[in-house]
Amino acid sequence: MVKFNFNPGDKIEITTKKEALSGLFMPSKENTFILKLDNGYNLGIDKKNIKKVKLLSKYKEKKPKSSKVKQNSKLPTITILHTGGTIASKVDYETGGVIARFSPEELLEMFPELKKIVNLKSRLVSNMWSEDLNFQHYNLLAKEVEKEVKAGADGVIITHGTDTLHYTSSALAFILENLKIPVILVGSQRSSDRGSSDAALNLICACNFIANSKFQDVAICMHSSMEDESCYILPATKSRKLHSSRRDAFKAINTDPIALVDKQGKIEYSQKVKQKKGKLNLRLFKEVKVGILKAHPNMLSKEVSFYKDYDGLILEGTGLGHFPINKTDSSTTENEKVFTELKKLSKKIPVVMTSQCIFGRINMNVYTTGRKLQEIGVLGNGLDMTTETAFIKLAWLLSNFKKQDVFELISENISNEINERIKDDFLE
Ligand code: ASP
Repeated sequence: MVKFNFNPGDKIEITTKKEALSGLFMPSKENTFILKLDNGYNLGIDKKNIKKVKLLSKYKEKKPKSSKVKQNSKLPTITILHTGGTIASKVDYETGGVIARFSPEELLEMFPELKKIVNLKSRLVSNMWSEDLNFQHYNLLAKEVEKEVKAGADGVIITHGTDTLHYTSSALAFILENLKIPVILVGSQRSSDRGSSDAALNLICACNFIANSKFQDVAICMHSSMEDESCYILPATKSRKLHSSRRDAFKAINTDPIALVDKQGKIEYSQKVKQKKGKLNLRLFKEVKVGILKAHPNMLSKEVSFYKDYDGLILEGTGLGHFPINKTDSSTTENEKVFTELKKLSKKIPVVMTSQCIFGRINMNVYTTGRKLQEIGVLGNGLDMTTETAFIKLAWLLSNFKKQDVFELISENISNEINERIKDDFLE
């Protein structure tokens, strides 16, 4: 029986029934042995056909050059806080593994253009996929931003996985009261070493924006189109990932992007940049329990009652803000039960309606369904918050205010999460 206990990158020689091959051992699947040949191609060989393997030399990890890079202290100082995700990662083609590059030296080696725009500092806050982040990470990040503000940074860039980037931007916008520097979240859909990577442009645009703008808030910086030319600066509480793989996956919802920044640093604003007063104050998250329940056909009342021990609930309703609550024939008796459970819940905790439509506003005055939901205390009428922002806002309010006040505060515009006038809006 041939043994295959090698490490990725080990140089080996394989003998099959037909030939002898040498190359680098790559992370391999159960029955297939993957060998990187000297010409760079990966070859999959059925393990059954291998007669002999021999280790030629063990893999030695190459240390990045990491020589101290000279920076220009006259340029604005930016700190990059890394949280993980695709953006700062690189595939090591010798081993096939993904390696992360986080020090300023490594970043400047990867993105040398940044040296001309800013004076860079960077450190690792966490190294994880964004789908694994939670409220504690938002608190940690906010405290790290506070440290940078105190240390005199001109701006902060947070590199972040794209999946939940818009949750984190919302959370930071609520936590960081009176923030007076730009805090820009940057992600990338393709890892930094791929020809098609969006990482470099997103970082360059974020640096250009920080270096040349008086913006004082949290925002997102991602590709404005499929082209590699410019990025949008998107509002922290009114943006969303709308595509699973495109570089321009992020869009502003129910509002315009804040600005368009191009490679050369030209900025075109489409929203006014407001200046803030007062001292930076952090209002952090506590361990509150908030859920999101999406309306769907054939809903069961136990899906609603599941949330009876929660502190708050977001209902992602259909259309203008509806849930299946009407008994209209013999097959819709469960809907009545859904209504009863919603009634019980809304008496106890804030239950807030958002829309599956993503774009547009909640209007529970148009149909009787909406009116009935309002009567039992479902909140959110007239609001245009995304589900993700409503979720973050509700959890943040419950963490910082008395429960009875949260019922009122959910409808107040706290961090630009509500737009009173959407283009093409209609309110009766
Ligand atoms: N799942 C990854 C994340 O959100 C995708 C990415 O890095 O963009 O962290």
